Amino acid sequence: MIDSIEILPHLVFEILLFILGGVIGSFLNVVIYRLPIMLQHKWENDCAILSGNEPTKSSFNLMYPRSHCRDCLKKIPEWANIPLIGFLILKGKCYFCKAKISKCYPFVELLTGGLFVIAGCYFSGVLLLGILLYISFVICLVFIDYDNFILPDELTLPLLWLGLLFNIHGVLSGSLENAVIGAALGYFVLWSIYWGFKLITKKDGMGYGDFKFLAAILAWSGYQALIPVTFIASILGIIYFVIIIISDKIKTSGNIKNALQHHIPFGPFLGLASLLFIFLAHSFESSAWLKDFLELPNL
Ligand SMILES: [Zn+2]
Repeated sequence: MIDSIEILPHLVFEILLFILGGVIGSFLNVVIYRLPIMLQHKWENDCAILSGNEPTKSSFNLMYPRSHCRDCLKKIPEWANIPLIGFLILKGKCYFCKAKISKCYPFVELLTGGLFVIAGCYFSGVLLLGILLYISFVICLVFIDYDNFILPDELTLPLLWLGLLFNIHGVLSGSLENAVIGAALGYFVLWSIYWGFKLITKKDGMGYGDFKFLAAILAWSGYQALIPVTFIASILGIIYFVIIIISDKIKTSGNIKNALQHHIPFGPFLGLASLLFIFLAHSFESSAWLKDFLELPNL
């Protein structure tokens, strides 16, 4: 028989994880929006220096300027920055000019909170902390790639090194050897596919960011995840591509040639597949609390 006292602390723990996820999701929104702009400023300055021109000074970073409305540029009140609640109170509109606020903000906060809660059901201790960090990086990379078709080195490389450090004792991958082989294999498999595709078609099938992202994913999960992650990611990518083609074919009155010109980023599917793999691979080793919780209706 399950003692409800044992369940209660875990429920409180999960609620706290959800709140933590909401707060971190709010910060991830800042990274998702600002990092590509910061990189663009940097690349423009690099080009200016190479052309012998003066670089422009920019004080735009993750902290400055403070959160503001993109339409009226007024600073958002502190209370409106409270994850999810701020959006709900404002009914998705700017406090000053009533311009619509992107639904992406509460979605990222909700998603981060939800994934933190799921992680809390499967993992505990140091492993849970590592998975929460991994989820945060993956969410950033997924949304940045979806919006901008880039997977910045500023995120993929730290994720890779953190994965190897985290697996010094093989906490997630089984051994450090599995993680190192995974990182190398992840990079070279996609690198080979990229060059094979380029030699045959003279086109770029994907970007170098994809190689680094898969290397980082396998530095965390080990080389064993290579086939499941790339398989799931490819299936998800194909399903998404077919949906895009069908919806575009309807819009363009059956012009399949135009519909096939679509480019889709691979990073979001790699990220999603890696999270599915981590949760599915560990689903049979789920916490005693989860097993007990699922058995509750039979008591
Ligand atoms: Zn406004």
